[in-house]
Amino acid sequence: MLTAVNRPHVRSQESSARISSQPSDVDVRVSRVRSALARMTEHLYYHDSFLSEFDADVLETIAAPRPALILDRTAFYPTSGGQVFDTGWIVPAGTKDDSQKLRVTEVAEDEAGTILHFLETPPSIQKGSRVRGLIDVDRRRDHIQQHSGQHILSAAFVRLFSMPTVSFHMGAESCSIDLDTKSLSAEQAEAAEALANDIVTQDRRVDIRFVTQAEAQGLGLRKLPPAERDQLRLIDIHDFDLTACGGTHVSSTGQIGCILLRKIEKVRQGWRVEFVCGKRAVAIARRDYTVLTESANLLSTHIWDLPQQIRKSQEDARAARKSHEQLLQDLADFHASQILAEMPKAAGPKIIVRTFPDRDLNFIKLLAQRLTRRSSEVIGLLASTSAPPALVFAQSPGQPFDMGALMKEILARLGGRGGGSKDMAQGGPAQTDGLDAALDETAAILRS
Ligand SMILES: [Zn+2]
Repeated sequence: MLTAVNRPHVRSQESSARISSQPSDVDVRVSRVRSALARMTEHLYYHDSFLSEFDADVLETIAAPRPALILDRTAFYPTSGGQVFDTGWIVPAGTKDDSQKLRVTEVAEDEAGTILHFLETPPSIQKGSRVRGLIDVDRRRDHIQQHSGQHILSAAFVRLFSMPTVSFHMGAESCSIDLDTKSLSAEQAEAAEALANDIVTQDRRVDIRFVTQAEAQGLGLRKLPPAERDQLRLIDIHDFDLTACGGTHVSSTGQIGCILLRKIEKVRQGWRVEFVCGKRAVAIARRDYTVLTESANLLSTHIWDLPQQIRKSQEDARAARKSHEQLLQDLADFHASQILAEMPKAAGPKIIVRTFPDRDLNFIKLLAQRLTRRSSEVIGLLASTSAPPALVFAQSPGQPFDMGALMKEILARLGGRGGGSKDMAQGGPAQTDGLDAALDETAAILRS
């Protein structure tokens, strides 16, 4: 019985401070159940990370608020120390009937070491009966690769740059460690990645050792956990890293496959390093490659030339925008002079009402500016009916009307928002029905 083992390194090296997957009400339920239990669950995964099937006795069945089982022993790993829980199935011993399989959806552990297996449906199994536990092996192997990879990566940062890991997070897609350091360069991250992968390819032995706190003192652990436990469980990566940890790990580093760093970013208390290991690294690299290939095809280039091609496309787009802007201005100039030339030569202000079905707000604004600049006696009531519809009212400086007030009036009729100053106002009408009539009425007010 492993009563004194330093259960998960919740309080050790890579604290579980950032784990949020455990529901907050678990503690409540666990403490309720704990009082009814005389002993903690035997943690089979402490000795064998690859044990995927086991037999156990049911100590307790829980129907509500969330169905769960407590066993006398288990190979199911509960969320702790940064590593997330296993899933799998629990079946009555000796049954071949698949319909009796109980799906384990989450596993949690309380302070006393009792492990709760949360189930999809209320258990039909009785207290005291014998069951067989089946771990979802693919999920467990993935967690093993990530967790062992994390130990190596954390050790590499300590060895190369004396940057200790303060927390470890295992997400559904990628993992991260937070380093206690003021700065971290891309070169340093790559050096740590290279050293970590050297350790992986050397396929070093990884042993699980149990020692007392006193023995641990002289062993050179990456970081000693607080002296709360009599016995410590150590993960010993041969001649490279020795860490107190309750997690599941590879038996030799080659099983990790590879360690791929994804991103480094400054966080509040240091630097965060995002990484993936093993099959996750292959999956994510495959996804990256697919996306890169698709992008490269769009630009008819090789993926390695993408940055260069994107820079070129950005420059082209900038130049095109500039040229487009210039053409619009020229067109607005041309329109303005044409409109003014066509106006009858009468005394008093020229009231210009125009609706453009194929021009946007930007253009009618330019046109309003040109019109009011070219003549000291112009009032322009301009509309664009292309989506989204827009209105621009403008008058030459010195004219007596209030464009902002007129805009508010017309929008009160059409719906929408807008406003502006005495000489220039713009708005977005909610509808174009009745827009022309409303513009004509506004012009009539000005003429009266
Ligand atoms: Zn660990």
